[in-house]
Amino acid sequence: MSKAHHRPGGGFRNPWGGDSPRFSSVLKWKLLDRFTRPPAREPDHGPLAIAQPTFASPRAPVDRLTLTWVGHATFLIQVGGLNVLTDPIWSARASPVRFAGPRRRVPAAVPFDALPPIDVVLLSHNHYDHLDDCTVRRLVARHPAARWLTPLGLGAFVRMRGAREVLELDWWEETRHDTLAVGCTPARHFSSRSLGDRNRTLWCGWSVAAPARQVFFAGDTAYHPEFAAIADRFGPFHTALLPIGAYEPGWLMRSVHQSPEEAVQAFNDLEQGRPPVAGRPAVMVAMHWGTFKLTDELLDEPPARARAAWLARGLDAERLWILSPGETRGL
Ligand code: ZN
Ligand code: ZN
Repeated sequence: MSKAHHRPGGGFRNPWGGDSPRFSSVLKWKLLDRFTRPPAREPDHGPLAIAQPTFASPRAPVDRLTLTWVGHATFLIQVGGLNVLTDPIWSARASPVRFAGPRRRVPAAVPFDALPPIDVVLLSHNHYDHLDDCTVRRLVARHPAARWLTPLGLGAFVRMRGAREVLELDWWEETRHDTLAVGCTPARHFSSRSLGDRNRTLWCGWSVAAPARQVFFAGDTAYHPEFAAIADRFGPFHTALLPIGAYEPGWLMRSVHQSPEEAVQAFNDLEQGRPPVAGRPAVMVAMHWGTFKLTDELLDEPPARARAAWLARGLDAERLWILSPGETRGL
């Protein structure tokens, strides 16, 4: 596969053109926000109601898939008889410090101590809302046998915090773990945790395939032209977990986060021309919304827009899953 996402001289880039926001644009946005916008913005709606998780403990049957939304991009996925965790964050803020930075509007909807034994942790990239220092340390201590799969360059972060089983993958690479085939997929995004480390480590999505069930976790991504290729290489998928939030203002966010409408388009690309798997139509699961307020749109806007875009395409409402925090659904 092409290495166009490897930057000559080291680091990574998006091979589809368009740049991720520079520091100066972010500053412009923040200043605009503070000084030029009317202060009386419509308030956010109250926190989302939390549901009681119903995942199987310690593990679900090998042919069953369950998804439990902990919040943001954190899911407990039970697939192939194993427990997989995505972009785990249990902390109160997505930030390098405890006193500042985007705070959780909804508590992590599965208590950390209620997690079943974790077999695999999937990381998509190093932003604070996806890779949380404190949560990594807690997971390593509580689930020392877990295997950590990361995009290129991110393995050292978890190894330094005690993780023993760590594997870095490049886009389109695949590894096996027990019943699972796990593939690393392209995403259109960027990485950064501090000044001067921009795009030194890679960003990605993940395909998780068990014999009876296939899941796609898109990570953090803008819309890009490779979703059909991902389904060709790793699909077809029973479920696609796609980000729908953090898109306003569009002039700044379009190159790093897809809008709800683009998420529905991405789902369409994943499904295009591919027959339903095992007689079951594929399901889109919304993520990356309703937990941290990272951008200008209201917290409850993304699912409303996703639903509208979904119905406008004539898709079956039952196939779009907007989970409540803590909710478990299965196939
Ligand atoms: Zn990100
Ligand atoms: Zn994010």
